[in-house]
Amino acid sequence: MTGLVRFAPSPTGLLHVGNARTAMLNFLFAKKESARFFLRIDDTDTERSKPEYEAAILEDLGWLGITHDLFARQVERADAHRAAAEKLKAAGRLYPAYETADELDRRRKRQIAMHKPPVYDRAALALTDADRAKLEAEGRKPHWRFKLSNSKVKWRDLLRGDVEIDTATLSDPVLIREDGRFLYTLPSVADDVDFEVSHIIRGEDHVTNTAAQIEIFEALGATVPLFAHFPLLIGAGGEALSKRLGSLSLRSLREDGIEALALDCYLAKTGTSDPIELRPSLDALATEFSFEKIGRAPAHFVPDELTALNARLLHTLPFEAVAPRLAATGIGGGAAFWDAVKPNLTRLSDAADLWTLVSGPVAPVIESTAFAAAAAEHLPPEPWSEATWLAWTAAVGTATGTKGRALFHPLRLALTAREHGPELKKLLPLIGRAKALARLKGETA
Ligand code: GLU
Repeated sequence: MTGLVRFAPSPTGLLHVGNARTAMLNFLFAKKESARFFLRIDDTDTERSKPEYEAAILEDLGWLGITHDLFARQVERADAHRAAAEKLKAAGRLYPAYETADELDRRRKRQIAMHKPPVYDRAALALTDADRAKLEAEGRKPHWRFKLSNSKVKWRDLLRGDVEIDTATLSDPVLIREDGRFLYTLPSVADDVDFEVSHIIRGEDHVTNTAAQIEIFEALGATVPLFAHFPLLIGAGGEALSKRLGSLSLRSLREDGIEALALDCYLAKTGTSDPIELRPSLDALATEFSFEKIGRAPAHFVPDELTALNARLLHTLPFEAVAPRLAATGIGGGAAFWDAVKPNLTRLSDAADLWTLVSGPVAPVIESTAFAAAAAEHLPPEPWSEATWLAWTAAVGTATGTKGRALFHPLRLALTAREHGPELKKLLPLIGRAKALARLKGETA
């Protein structure tokens, strides 16, 4: 199949896991179906859109491995949007309305008080040319509404099946504001038309928009794309993700040491019938992608599930995969250190803390000076290997008459000052004889 999907973020903030899931589902679908992926920056809200957010979106998607085949900024397509607006006007589907926000609000409140749905009453359609001229002479500027057909719009949603929405239950959407700027709806449809978007895959919070948008596609004489609306990703407690955006931004997850591939797998699998498990690549995730696997209930974002996936991924990574990042944070020890600590990591950033066990300074915990002295006495000469630990502890055990926890626990406390940690047979050669000896003597080293 050839086709085009689009991810259309507004650069008004950082991407969070919910947005990223939308991007991921579009990307996997495109990969699986050999469609292209269009990244469209929905920046018509010039007050809230910021270039630094656009840059952050590009960086965050790049981090996830989500690449695009096409790119556009809506602000640069104003001519196309104006042309679409003219077409709608010519077709009698775009009309000027002059109510202020206050007037609309009062009307809505009256309707609600009368138990009527708060749908725009189309008073503006009854205005005569003379009425409009009078309003404009008073300095009023119109906003422009799309005239819905007030009929049933139907589509076969690739996720929800047959959907039917009666547009008589909706207010005619405002497409252009008083100041001439476009709201989201018309630029979105006009761009979907011009770029020939074939599939619109997005959250189910857009289902109602889709009914109006389908009418706009039709009014523009364009082919209506296929739609797939998936249940949103919500917080573990059922709350909307935007409320906790800070901690759930891709930026903060990355800074927190989450691996891109762990998040890729999480985003691809959460809310599906597949288990949330590691896959080796985006290609593998794409092969397994199917709308049929996406459940009808909202997917819950459970940070612990992501962290567990991250830990499992780290445990499989070879040293080469992390070497530059370890080096960048001043962590030495090469492959031997990585091999020693990776089973203990949840996040790569945990490695920095464990590196201090090797590099020091460690203020040792000595439970028994006599025991520590005996242990120091039996430290074999270097060179050391993983086998050193076994030979050494056997000798210390014999000398002190200890075994099991009574033998190993004081050694761990003396060498690392911690109750738990990486396997000592792997750490010991990294710590080295000089430091091990000093620590056994109770010296900070
Ligand atoms: N910019 C819109 C949003 O972020 C795009 C929605 C859509 O997919 O049409 O909600």
